[in-house]
Amino acid sequence: MQGLSVNGERLWNSIMETARFGGTPGGGVTRLPLSDADKEVRDWFAAACRSLELAVSVDDMGNMFARREGKNRSLPPVSFGSHLDTQAGGGRFDGVLGVLAGLEAMRTLSEQGVVAEAPLELINWTGEEGCRFPPLLGSGVFVGAYKRDWAYSSKDPDGMRFIDELERIGYRGSESVSGHKLGAYFELHIEQGPILEIEHKVIGVVTGARGQLWYDGVVSGQQGHAGTTPMAMRRDPMVTFSRIVDEAFRLASDYEPEGLATIGHVEVLPNSRNVIPGTVKFTIDLRHANKPLLHKMDEEMMTRVRKIAADGVTTVDFKRFWLVEPMEFDARCASAVRDSAEALGYSHMDIVTGPGHDAVQASKFTPTAMIFVPCKGGVSHNEAESVDPDHATAGANVLLNAVLACAGT
Ligand SMILES: [Zn+2]
Repeated sequence: MQGLSVNGERLWNSIMETARFGGTPGGGVTRLPLSDADKEVRDWFAAACRSLELAVSVDDMGNMFARREGKNRSLPPVSFGSHLDTQAGGGRFDGVLGVLAGLEAMRTLSEQGVVAEAPLELINWTGEEGCRFPPLLGSGVFVGAYKRDWAYSSKDPDGMRFIDELERIGYRGSESVSGHKLGAYFELHIEQGPILEIEHKVIGVVTGARGQLWYDGVVSGQQGHAGTTPMAMRRDPMVTFSRIVDEAFRLASDYEPEGLATIGHVEVLPNSRNVIPGTVKFTIDLRHANKPLLHKMDEEMMTRVRKIAADGVTTVDFKRFWLVEPMEFDARCASAVRDSAEALGYSHMDIVTGPGHDAVQASKFTPTAMIFVPCKGGVSHNEAESVDPDHATAGANVLLNAVLACAGT
């Protein structure tokens, strides 16, 4: 059944139609989780699914499922989707593309009269964006990463509780969030970065998510007069710190292109132009998508700092306090995405994502893969978010065919 094509114009019209709910004068969308605009787009989505005779259910986290029966009803459903909520002043595509491409896939199957072996389920996850409540709440509770009652009691900046807002918009469903089975999960999303555009590729086969290492460092020396202390007599923490900075960036370039280093926070004490500082405090953030290589970066960072500190001129306190392991999506699901892109004749490349998608949560629960399409300039979480309609169509086609390959026909 390879080669089914969605109606790209109808997909585009749906994206533009839903952009009305929470639409901003600047052409973006403000549709915070569990807001009135979120209720409006959910109502629209449920009606669109029911018009295709999909069975719509809602769990007690407000996650929405639209099910199309398969030939074999006893199989767990192959699922796909994303989120319809947005950031404040967000764009029209982040999350929305994945849900509406899924809807368009369902429409295409209805039109073509295609019934897959396994049931199919289109999912709209609750509260993906962390702009009101903590991020990834719907999918996080679904996979058991967070407790439901913790999510219920979380509050927005105005002190409104998640559970009260969920009930207010009428989306505390009757199904238990922990009772739902999935056979696989696919998510189409805009890249939110510049790589596909730079590489002139239409489809990103997302193979995993980068891991991260966070360090805190404090270098202590001796505060002194900038105009009198001979260089040889100084115990200047800035000298030590600058060597550490240099090593961190060298380390990232040794592990290019996946290795990344960021020093985003520095405090110099007393922070005066004519005083040799007494103390420099700083952070280092290292990232890599491959688990053994991330751990090697960790070891090397510690070794390099130890070497720098060995001269004993200053005292270095350097520790890692946070580690997020890289995550790999399911190889077979990723292959289904890659094969679909290939069969449909779209240019493609493997790519990794930073954490923070529902699919990253879903992958803890069921075989999962993601599909990226380019967004203009890599700009996202911004009213100016922009996607080429042909790329949106390509992403939907790859989604549809990967899902069918996984579900069987
Ligand atoms: Zn998103």
